[in-house]
Amino acid sequence: MRYISTRGGTTPMPFQDAVLTGLAPDGGLLIPERLPDLSGELDALRGRSFVEVAQGVLKHFIDDIPEQELQRLLNASFATFDHPQIVPLRDFGQLKVLELFHGPTLAFKDVALQFLGNLFDYILSARGSSMNILGATSGDTGSAGIAGVRGKENISIFVLYPHQRTSALQELQMITVPDPNVHCLAVEGSFDDCQAIMKTVFSDLAFKDGYRLGAINSVNWARVLVQIVYYVYAALMLDENGARKVSFSVPTGNFGDIFAGYMALKMGVPIDRLVLATNENDILSVFFNTGLYRRGSVRFTITPSMDIQVASNFERFLYYRFGGDSTRVREFMERFARDGEARVDDGAPIDDHIVAAAIDASATMATIGEVYREHGYLVDPHTAVGIAAARRLGVPDPVVCLATAHPAKFPESVDKAVGQPAARHERLEALRDLPIRRTVIPASVDAVREFIASHAS
Ligand SMILES: *Cc1c(COP(=O)(O)O)cnc(C)c1O
Repeated sequence: MRYISTRGGTTPMPFQDAVLTGLAPDGGLLIPERLPDLSGELDALRGRSFVEVAQGVLKHFIDDIPEQELQRLLNASFATFDHPQIVPLRDFGQLKVLELFHGPTLAFKDVALQFLGNLFDYILSARGSSMNILGATSGDTGSAGIAGVRGKENISIFVLYPHQRTSALQELQMITVPDPNVHCLAVEGSFDDCQAIMKTVFSDLAFKDGYRLGAINSVNWARVLVQIVYYVYAALMLDENGARKVSFSVPTGNFGDIFAGYMALKMGVPIDRLVLATNENDILSVFFNTGLYRRGSVRFTITPSMDIQVASNFERFLYYRFGGDSTRVREFMERFARDGEARVDDGAPIDDHIVAAAIDASATMATIGEVYREHGYLVDPHTAVGIAAARRLGVPDPVVCLATAHPAKFPESVDKAVGQPAARHERLEALRDLPIRRTVIPASVDAVREFIASHAS
């Protein structure tokens, strides 16, 4: 399988190069040249373990890593999870929750980033090379990315995050990591500033090549790829041997997670609806309801990992929506960059499967309280946004709500919503006593470039 750019200006490249490249050189995002059809293999994958399903899915997309090596990488990546099923499905009847937070940092991003860290290490070791990872995070990507590569000799990681805009615990999860290959940069700005700085640094090709920059954001195809696996795994648990389709509700920020579900759907996995759930930063839910894609200003909410206006994976969706027409993708993205808005109005529905709703803080808090009273089960605010959206849109059973973070990552909101101190996790409590290490930096491309230049591996 080779990988091409959504903007059509890149020579097709093999998987390993796509993983190291991150953002395509023409400014687009990498996608597979074609999508495999899994429908003939679903019966064989049903009832298999998560790692076995992963192997069955990934082998279609990766033909430059021997199968045994891939198996070793997958086993090592998910051995760090603290649940034997890796991503257990909690079934409360009407409410079904897929717990994606059993990795080292208690957020769903570990699923992809534990694998990506090992994948980078494997590729770089084979090539006798090294790399510098630059990432921007609204909270969870940073700690999960750091957990994926900490201590790896051939990798340094630089994480940009909005100063004082992540939760205290999210920041502690990053700045308490002692390994010298980890650099946490608190940027005096918003997450969108961090993401814009990162994109500018990556677009300086001389700098990018000179410092062998790599990406961990969900612009990296390997992240989307691993996330496809749990849609397949969960759909096959509930599809009654192919007799029914399964819907998913996905708390959405950068559109990486739900895009993985969209890929699974396109590959023939029995998926009905994909519920795109946003918080008050509703650019994507407005788009899927009206066709208008318009940038607003970022609002800071109780679901900080979704405080995003411009979702980096959206362009991948557009590529498929426009039937693979790169010119149309490029024009749309250029118009959006220039005018701050662009519209799809070709008369056809935006999408037959994706339905969207924006959920505000009070509905999110109410949902945490309801779920706790109904089922004695605690959900984090991001997960609650997904549950609330599925309920509001009346999506028919079965709906799997993706639990993207452990409730203990957001104790202020969860405790308040259930009216008692409830959300704790010993791994997080232990962080409060550790020494910290971080650099506060202005929201400036030059400042970030200089920092990387003087600390690069
Ligand atoms: C990153 C994140 C999301 C959003 O996922 P995207 O792939 O960016 O859409 C939702 N919830 C939590 C807890 C997250 O960390």
